[in-house]
Amino acid sequence: TEDRRASYDFLYKVILTGDTGVGKTNLLSRYSRDEFNPNSKATIGAEFSSRILVVDSHRVKLQIWDTAGHEKYRAITAAFYRGAKGALLCFDITNSTSFSSLSGWLASVRDNSDDKCCIILVGCKSDLKEHREVSREKAERFVKEHQLYGYMETSAKDSSNVEETFQRVLEHIYRKEL
Ligand code: GDP
Repeated sequence: TEDRRASYDFLYKVILTGDTGVGKTNLLSRYSRDEFNPNSKATIGAEFSSRILVVDSHRVKLQIWDTAGHEKYRAITAAFYRGAKGALLCFDITNSTSFSSLSGWLASVRDNSDDKCCIILVGCKSDLKEHREVSREKAERFVKEHQLYGYMETSAKDSSNVEETFQRVLEHIYRKEL
């Protein structure tokens, strides 16, 4: 359920992390504006988008922050992580290097964000299964090993699991905050 009026009861900051090119910006644009850009180039600058959703008749504003190109230079500041209640740790299922980078990204999230930060692993570009380099099993093993809140495979191109992924992180945060 979605509502575009401006007032809300809770504000949750959610961050997107992972290597450049994995699909973070398109995941966010699909979720917040229902847009996909096949030739998106990394734009540098702080970027965030919001949506207001309803849980248990409370209006919750999800404020989602994208690294907006800074990840390329590992130039992400503490302010990016500060206060994040949720994190989508993103890799590209067709790029095993982006999977190898995950432990570094995870360490940054754990070092810099809220202790209770709810982290979900996201395998992006699920529409490109014929080029898959990272199996679902491998991703699920990572989730177990690092005690994350789950694994989702998304496609910003065909929209699959995009709504469900943000909904999931929202519900996990909400339950923890109660
Ligand atoms: P970011 O650097 O992590 O923000 O990645 P972008 O969102 O800019 O995406 C990098 C490239 O991958 C762009 O060319 C996108 O069009 C492409 N891309 C992003 N998401 C998907 C997806 O779900 N499916 C496919 N096929 N391509 C995608």
